[in-house]
Order: sequence, then C-alpha cells, then structure tokens
Amino acid sequence: MKYIPSVGMEVHAQLLTNSKMFCGCPTHFGESPNTNVCPICLGLPGTLPVPNKRAIEHVIRTSLALNCTIAPTALFYRKNYFYPDLTKGYQISQYGEEHPIGTLGWLEIVVNGERKRIHIRRVHLEEDTGKLFHFVPGESEVDYNRCGMPLMEIVTDFPPDIHSGEEAKEYLVQLRAILTYLGVCDGKMEEGSLRCEPNISVAPEGSDTLGVKTELKNLNSFRSVVRGIDFEAQRQSEVLESGGRIAQETRGWNDEGFSFPMRSKEGEQDYRYFPEPDIVPVVIDEAWIESLRATLPELPLAKWERYQKEFGLSAYDSGVLTADYETARFFEACVTHKADPKSACNWITGELAAKLNADNKRIDQTPFTPAHVADLLSLIQNNTITSRIAKDVFAEAYQNGRMPSEIVQSQGLTQIADETALRSMAQKVIGENPDIVEKLRSGKEGVMGFLVGQVMKESKGRANPQRVQEILREEILT
Ligand SMILES: [Zn+2]
Repeated sequence: MKYIPSVGMEVHAQLLTNSKMFCGCPTHFGESPNTNVCPICLGLPGTLPVPNKRAIEHVIRTSLALNCTIAPTALFYRKNYFYPDLTKGYQISQYGEEHPIGTLGWLEIVVNGERKRIHIRRVHLEEDTGKLFHFVPGESEVDYNRCGMPLMEIVTDFPPDIHSGEEAKEYLVQLRAILTYLGVCDGKMEEGSLRCEPNISVAPEGSDTLGVKTELKNLNSFRSVVRGIDFEAQRQSEVLESGGRIAQETRGWNDEGFSFPMRSKEGEQDYRYFPEPDIVPVVIDEAWIESLRATLPELPLAKWERYQKEFGLSAYDSGVLTADYETARFFEACVTHKADPKSACNWITGELAAKLNADNKRIDQTPFTPAHVADLLSLIQNNTITSRIAKDVFAEAYQNGRMPSEIVQSQGLTQIADETALRSMAQKVIGENPDIVEKLRSGKEGVMGFLVGQVMKESKGRANPQRVQEILREEILT
C-alpha cells in the first residue's frame, strides 16, 4: 500500500532584541553560564516582568509578512510545569489556541517550479527557557542565560499542507529568509536561534483521516530536516505495513541517519494555563499595525521573481542570492555600482561564497564590498587583466580591502598586450618541448592545453590564454 506523509511544522525563532523579554538582561549568545541573569528572569519573589515592546513589534511584523490577522490585544498567560530549566515553575507564554498575536496566515513556497501555499495557524510570543547540560553521568548543570529570551513560535495550520521532507525544507528556507529580511531573527539553526520541530504522520493514499503523529527533535540543519522527515515517514509506513501501530511519541533525530524514541506523548500534561496577573494586556491598535506594516521590506519570493525578470538570472541563481537578506543586499549594491548583474552573481555565488564558507563568515563581515566587485569586473571586462589574474587580485582584495585596480596597478598585473613578447614566450616553450610539439603536429589536439599552460606560467598568468593558443597554432602548424 502507498502511504502519504503529512507534516505539521512548529518553529521557534529567537528574536533579535537587545534585552530579554521581561527584564533588562542582555541577549548575547555564548557568554559564560549564568552571567546574563537578574532577579526577574530568575523568577525571584517580588519581581515584576515588563514586556519588551520591540519583541512584540517583531511578532506583529512577522505576522503581517505571513498574511496573518493581528489580535487587538496581546495577552500573556502562565504555562505551569516543573522542570529545572525554568526557575519560576511556569513559562510566560501566549495561550496557544486562543490569544496569539497572529492567526490564520500563509506563506508560499516553490517546489518543482510550482508555487504552493502553506497555511499558518498561529504566530505567538513566549519566553525561552534555560539550558541543561549533562557533562557528568548522574549530574545536571543548568545555564539560565537563555532563560527569559524572547521567543516566537510559528505553527502551520491543520490539516497539513506539507507532504514531504523536501516541502518541509522549502517551507523552512522561505520562513528563515522572511525572518532574516525582517531582521527579527538571525536564523542560525546550528546555534539554535531557529529551531524546528515537525510532527509527522502517514496515512494510506486516498484516506481522509490522518494517522497517529510523532514529533521529531534535534534537527539542526536543512539537510537533517529533509532526512529526518523522510526517514520518519518511511519508518511509520513500514510499521503499518507489517501490521503494527504507531505510538504517539517524541523522537530524536540522530545525524547518523535514524530516529529514536525520547518520550511518550500519551496523556499529555495539563499546563493549567491562567492569565499572567503581573502583566496588563498590551493593546495593538490600527495605527501601530499600519506604522509597522510600512516597515516591511520587499520579501524573498518577490525578490526572487524580480531578479529573474529584471536581471535575466536563472531561478536557481535568484534563489541563492535571495535566500539571505545580506546576500541580496550585497548583490543589489553591486548592480548599483554598475556591475553586470550576471557576472556579479557568478562572483558572489562562486569565488566569494567559497571563501566566505571556508572562513565561516557572513558576506557583510569582510573588507570586500560591492564597489570591489564592480571594480574587479570592469578590469576583466575591458581586458586589463586575465580571469586567471582576477582570482589572485580577488584573493588579495578580500584579505586587505585594497581596490582591485590599485592592486593591478601597483603589482604590474595588467594583461600582456605586446604580441612580440607573447610570441617569444611561445617560441621558448616550443623549443623546450619538442616531443609534445611533435604530438600536436601529428593531430593529438589534447596536448594543446599543456602548451598553453606552460606559456601562461611563463607569463605569470598575464597572457590571454585564447591569444596564446592562436599564436602556438600559428608557430607550430603553419
Ligand atoms: Zn534578567
């Protein structure tokens, strides 16, 4: 029997604010444990939480970008449970189904060239919990730095629109892009500032009821999202096929390629939600909503379409450039500096991306700017330098931020235009390689590359390889 997977997505995004959700503690990542804490986020008696206005605005802007309806008031609740990652014994949250800031929206993804709408059920605000560490068997340590950080939860609607690991990944790519464009989250899955917990079920093809679902945790890359969901769908299909039943449970993903049971979800805990008595409802009026709507940037999918139409880029290239806000901004600045869009795209997604990747840097973290790209491209385009030399010039400009034309000038890297000089280099190489020259004469075209390479070496990369080949041909074959 064929089984169709259905996937619901629950995404937690850490909001980019200077201070925590209800106190003034800083939100920096990676500080020494328990240094960014105060009586409020530790939940000591007698303290009063004050909501962070910026965090609420981030959630409103996200809800608007996701086409949601905005609630007239933001209400906070206490979600009661006991676990050492929360000192208060409850988490301040928005009561899931009843009073989120944003409800019933959608975002669009592109799968196999087709647009598909993924419906959103709710967007809400809550505080994050601390983090437990288990370095020594039998002992737990806890870091409360993350406790009280503003956290946004985005949940897809039911029944699910997503039916494969690939669609889930596209949803996450699109959502991550939107969040980074809005500047509300840095989207770093590996650092946990964007966390995704899909729930997965399978049902026989044509069935109108959904199967029992499992929730998957520990997915910390796009790749693990695809692999984890596809694995889980396959596992469930095999269990059903062999006459078994699916247990409702939370499972962990192991990047070795399998999921494992973490805890049972049968008889879910009652959180005894009740309104947080220390926080007054926050009124969200039309004027506030409209002033925030006016700050929304052009969103990723719109940019993706525009790049194809306006600059003639492929869907793939446009996708790479628009997936990240800083990359899109960098590309557009190159075009403003009069760089050819297609060539600029090739450098950004090629040489530059490779260097950034190797150095683990973002595109806005090096001295190599859009002005450098435009300068370098014009040097190649007007034949001042060869594309071989361009790579060296790029490597240096990337390191120290000197302008490519300056580097070329000071190091004498301009292309050799002197025909006599080129010809004497070719003759030298011919004289040194009689056997190979003989092979070319007898029709072995394959050796041409070697000879051109030798002349390029002789010229220290400053000869035009095409012209070198022409000269070699003239010298040897005529
Ligand atoms: Zn604090």
